[in-house]
Amino acid sequence: MSKNYHIVLLPGDGIGPEVVREARKTLEALSPLFDLQFTFEERLIGGIAIDETGQPLPEETLQACRQADAVLLGAVGGPKWSDPTAAVRPEQGLLGIRKGLGLYANLRPVKIYPQLISASSLKPDVLAGVDLLVVRELTGGIYFGPREEGSEEAYDTMLYTRPEVERVVRVAAKAAQERRGKLTSVDKANVLASSRLWRQTTQHLVETEFPDVTLEHVLVDAMTMYLIRRPADFDVIVSGNMFGDIITDEAAMLAGSMGMLPSASLGEGRVGLYEPIHGSAPDIAGQGVANPLATILSTAMMLRYSFGEKDAADVIERAVERSLDAGYRTPDLAGVASPDQTIEIVGTEAMGEIVRNFLY
Ligand code: NAD
Repeated sequence: MSKNYHIVLLPGDGIGPEVVREARKTLEALSPLFDLQFTFEERLIGGIAIDETGQPLPEETLQACRQADAVLLGAVGGPKWSDPTAAVRPEQGLLGIRKGLGLYANLRPVKIYPQLISASSLKPDVLAGVDLLVVRELTGGIYFGPREEGSEEAYDTMLYTRPEVERVVRVAAKAAQERRGKLTSVDKANVLASSRLWRQTTQHLVETEFPDVTLEHVLVDAMTMYLIRRPADFDVIVSGNMFGDIITDEAAMLAGSMGMLPSASLGEGRVGLYEPIHGSAPDIAGQGVANPLATILSTAMMLRYSFGEKDAADVIERAVERSLDAGYRTPDLAGVASPDQTIEIVGTEAMGEIVRNFLY
């Protein structure tokens, strides 16, 4: 009997609808190959939701997401809604949905495609073999701790509880188990009390629940150096909210292009949120040139983490690699090719179609 998955699509603003459309068509093309049934429901978020309802995250959107098996988001925001004095802003929709679904773990894989290695500012020999996953704690730490803001004095508080650390480290250790079995926990335990709790909790949890995972602890300042000096040494990296914020952006730059990087946010409930890491790219919206690969790769993460459909996820990822191997590039990747390769520049829809043709 075929399995049914109900997916809420939140295309959002700018290039969001263009890339989400290609991702949806990819899942539809995959469906008969794996006997999976997908049903889709589109809802409003971001600037378009403000225009139509006055709210960046209408209650109906949140309700629909809570009842879904997974959520796929495009991007939100744009110049039309960027007035800093406005009462409501598109980005509030993003924070609201993460909070509303209790998504405490943000997963960002960074894989260097050999075909695109020249897009990075780092040397090819440093990047060869890079395939890592950063797991960032998303709903705690200094961004959410008690704070005061005065004109002469202000403070923020980095506060973590043992259960908050345990749940995100569990996600990371589980991912490590399914990958190469190595987990690097990043903290500042030589200075911060919250980091010492983070380190002790992580050590205890991994020793007791994941004895087959090799754990190392690295200070965040050292980590920022290691990430650009020897990135291929890492498998899964886990860290608190602020350190993770910095490390995920640094790691993303290893890949050289925003248009290639997917992400997942997971939490207590069964619903995961999947989205490309890039924004709504207003400068190219409506031109049919946006790179849909990050969003297509986000559906592979959905299949892997929300549905447990590892083989189907692998097929999407391989189809993306085959498309690059065959020399197809969206304009953001133009000029990225090895000297012996001929490349062909294609638009959003054509790139989606090419990936679908390589699904087998
Ligand atoms: P951006 O990621 O939208 O764009 C940065 C640059 O990368 C632009 O030149 C853009 O054309 C290019 N780019 C991004 N994605 C691309 C793709 N798939 N294919 C080809 N080129 C791509 O970042 P920005 O310009 O700083 O922000 C634009 C808007 O997006 C802002 O309103 C911002 O708040 C919002 N934003 C939203 C999210 C999100 O929804 N998760 C994330 C970041 C920024």
